[in-house]
Amino acid sequence: MNALLEIKNVSLTYQTLKNETEAIKNISFGVNQGEFVSIVGPSGCGKTTILSMIAGLLKPTSGEILIENEKVSKITTNVGYMLQRDNLFEWLSVYQNVCVGIKINKNKNCLSKEQLIALIEKYGLSGFEKSKPAELSGGMRQRVSLIRTLALNPKILLLDEPFSALDYQTRLSVQNDIHSIIKSENKTAILVTHDISEAISMSDKIIILTKRPGTIKKIITLNFEKSLTPLERRENPVFNEYFKTLWEELQ
Ligand code: ADP
Ligand code: MG
Repeated sequence: MNALLEIKNVSLTYQTLKNETEAIKNISFGVNQGEFVSIVGPSGCGKTTILSMIAGLLKPTSGEILIENEKVSKITTNVGYMLQRDNLFEWLSVYQNVCVGIKINKNKNCLSKEQLIALIEKYGLSGFEKSKPAELSGGMRQRVSLIRTLALNPKILLLDEPFSALDYQTRLSVQNDIHSIIKSENKTAILVTHDISEAISMSDKIIILTKRPGTIKKIITLNFEKSLTPLERRENPVFNEYFKTLWEELQ
């Protein structure tokens, strides 16, 4: 069986009036249904560029990207994108924020309002449906942002450094929450991060990139027991071994 997402020999060069920047060179990897994959690498190595191509926002200069064997050629609801800033609308309530996507899209795959209310309750936001984002903690805001992304029922979730604006303590608990939501909804996710610990605590597989132009340096498959949460992984003795391996690869 083919992977849900296939990146095949993809390169991308940005063209501007003044010059060309080769951002990504000859990248290939696959992501299976339900898999959680992280991409790590030095700043400017092309991580965001890869996500933008998967989302159909940018076309590869060469190579191709397939989702369920179909070439990605435009933006579709196959892919949900969650950014560093949660981008919630401050003047809308939690419930209205969660519904923004389905109002705009009206496609038949979207979750129903009942399903969205169920998600709001399941993930600890009941009682806050009418609250404005400003009344929520950073962690709650990220959960709202994730539920809003899930509302369009994407096949693949893209997360671009979604926790980097949070303080350390909050970040640990939000990683736990977001991981548990993604796993219990059986979603496929690709997380971009420069935080090695975050990648080890959340992923099934880590793709390490070289500095620009980004090429694949190494792919590491993590073998934690399936039931462990990100916080529990951090306490596991093999966590430090993975940390050391990644640290050395990134030097
Ligand atoms: P990362 O997310 O890993 O930090 P990016 O994918 O944002 O890296 O960028 C990769 C490289 O491409 C960087 O050198 C960046 O300066 C360059 N780049 C990104 N976007 C553009 C653009 N729109 N035009 C020209 N160069 C760009
Ligand atoms: Mg980036």
